[in-house]
Amino acid sequence: MISRATLPLHQSAGPSLLFSDYHTHPQGHRLQPYTQALLQPWADSARELGLRDIAFTDHDRYYAGVNFDEIDRLREKNPNLKIRAGIELDNDPIHSAAGRKWIEQHWNRLDFVLGSVHFLNRADQMFDSVPAGAEQFEGRDIDAIYTDYFRRIREMAATGLVDCLAHLDLVKIHGHRPNAEIAAIVGETLDFVGSQDLAVELSTAGWRKPINELYPADRIIELALEKQIPFTTASDAHSHVQLGDNFPRLARKMSILKIREVCVFEKHKRNVRVVWAI
Ligand SMILES: [Zn+2]
Ligand SMILES: [Zn+2]
Repeated sequence: MISRATLPLHQSAGPSLLFSDYHTHPQGHRLQPYTQALLQPWADSARELGLRDIAFTDHDRYYAGVNFDEIDRLREKNPNLKIRAGIELDNDPIHSAAGRKWIEQHWNRLDFVLGSVHFLNRADQMFDSVPAGAEQFEGRDIDAIYTDYFRRIREMAATGLVDCLAHLDLVKIHGHRPNAEIAAIVGETLDFVGSQDLAVELSTAGWRKPINELYPADRIIELALEKQIPFTTASDAHSHVQLGDNFPRLARKMSILKIREVCVFEKHKRNVRVVWAI
């Protein structure tokens, strides 16, 4: 039940109070080298939405398109917007070894690294591709898939190369639910995330997918809150028109779950920002 008392009045429509989007893909789904023509529309969209802090986090397999000098030029042209240089590292069995190496080489120019699990047992297909990836779940033990997925998340968290975990319960994307309590499945992973001092994102992308649910689920957010794991806010936009997607709805959800702070990153250093004081 939404309590009016805890809901900022201007959260009902229009721009939200949320000011940061830490999961964006300027290159979309193919290699597109960074230019001002590619990046400026993202800064323009941010301004229109009232966002003050955004991170570019293209997939690591497109690292060759990331150009730190172009990001610096964009920063100079948009002094009122914090623009973070980032990347989304995943567990691609074919490409992510090169991605890891690139991250190590460019660690000091990167502000922020997202860690993701997009691959289960197939090297040639992301399990989260819609609808094709759903085949990977057919006839399988869903609890075993969940257990395997979260083991891979812990492996990603253990690399020492990530600041935050993306779409933490992406494994639910096609609507498959485990029989076991989610707390029993995810507990060890949240403990490990906490011990590594990593953040977790609140991603509105799940509302665009068959599952139609925030990543992660409310119960996981509650467990993360108990363990004092910090959050970023994220859209996983693959086009500048998706930037800040569903942020008013996310702000309402955060109000209900009593999340009043989000974190931002500069050269991997985490800072906490208060979204609203109640
Ligand atoms: Zn992802
Ligand atoms: Zn992404």
